[in-house]
Amino acid sequence: MRISEVLRAWKKILQGGTPSLSIEITRECPLRCPGCYAYGSDHLGGGVTLRELSDYKGQELVDNIMQIVDRHKPLHLSLVGGDPLVRYRELEQLVPLITARGIHLQIVTSAFRPFPLAWTQNPLVNVVVSIDGLQPEHDVRRTPATYQRILSNIAGQRITVHCTITGQMMKRPAYLKEFVEFWAAKSEVNKIWFSIFTPQIGDSLPEILSPQEREQVIADLRDLRNAYAKVDMPVEMIRQFATPPASPKDCIFAQTTTTISADLSSPITPCQFGGKPDCSQCGCAASMGLAAVGDHRLGGVIPVKSIFDLSFRIGRARVKGEAPAVATFQILR
Ligand code: SF4
Ligand code: SF4
Repeated sequence: MRISEVLRAWKKILQGGTPSLSIEITRECPLRCPGCYAYGSDHLGGGVTLRELSDYKGQELVDNIMQIVDRHKPLHLSLVGGDPLVRYRELEQLVPLITARGIHLQIVTSAFRPFPLAWTQNPLVNVVVSIDGLQPEHDVRRTPATYQRILSNIAGQRITVHCTITGQMMKRPAYLKEFVEFWAAKSEVNKIWFSIFTPQIGDSLPEILSPQEREQVIADLRDLRNAYAKVDMPVEMIRQFATPPASPKDCIFAQTTTTISADLSSPITPCQFGGKPDCSQCGCAASMGLAAVGDHRLGGVIPVKSIFDLSFRIGRARVKGEAPAVATFQILR
C-alpha cells in the first residue's frame, strides 16, 4: 500500500467510515462446503439465512452495487457470495466500473466457471480462488469446483490461491508443504494465502484445529514462506495466528470493514463471518495481516494500533455529532 492510500484510509476512519467494503453479491452458490459460514443459521444474526434473502440480478444488481460503492467510497472492495461468479455477466459490467474509480477489487470465488482474462490483467483486480486442501480432500469438500475444473478455468490467468486450513489437513504431516508444492508450480498462481478455519462460539467440528495443530501451522507457514516466494505471508502476520484479537472491537479488520449481505442492505456483523465468531480461534488471514500492522511501532515507540483506536473513537464521535478536538483530524481534512 502506498503512503497516499494509508492517509486516505486513515482519513476515512477519522470521518467515521470504513476503508474496506465487502459485499455478498448473490445468495447463490453451486457448492455445499462443510463448515461454510455464509450459510450458517446465525450468519445474519439469526432469523433469515443467506439462502432465504432476496437478492438482485441483471442491471438492477449492477446499479445497486454502484450506488453502494459511490456512497461508501471504499479504498478496497471484496465481492463475495455465495459465489460471485454466479453473477458473472453482471461482474463483467461491474469490474471496469469499480476499478475506474481507483478502487482495489478482490473477487473471492471457487472458480467453478471461467472468467474473463481482462479481470486478472487489470492491476487493481485480484481474483482469489478458494482451494481447500489437496485434490482428494478438496474435491470431496468443494465439488463441483474440483481441481480438474479449477485448473481448466484458471488456464492463462494470474490468480491468488487461498486455502483455509482445517483440523483434518493437520492430521497428516507435511500436508501444507505438499499443497504449496503443487500450486506454487503453476504459472497461473501469483500468490498463495492461508487462513485457519474459524469456528463460531460453541462449535464442535472436525475442521477446528487443536492448540498443537495451530502451533504446527505457524511453524509450517514460517518454513514455507522462506522456501516459496509465492507464499505471500509476512512473518509478522504468521505470528499473529498465535494470539488472535481478543474480541471484534480489538480486531482492526472488523473495525475497518463494512460487510453487506445479498439483499444489499443487511449488515453482517461483527465481521465477515457473521453470527458469534470465536475470536480466540480466529484464523482469518486479513485479520492477522492488519493485527501485524497494528503491532508495528512508529519510530520504534508508538504502536500503530493505539493510533487506530484513537482514530476509531474520533470517527465514532464525529458520526454522533460530538466535535473531535484532535489536531490530526484537522490536518487530514
Ligand atoms: S463456495 Fe463459499 S459460499 Fe459456497 S458453499 Fe463453499 S464456502 Fe460457502
Ligand atoms: S475477523 Fe476474527 S478476530 Fe476479527 S472479529 Fe472476526 S472472528 Fe474476531
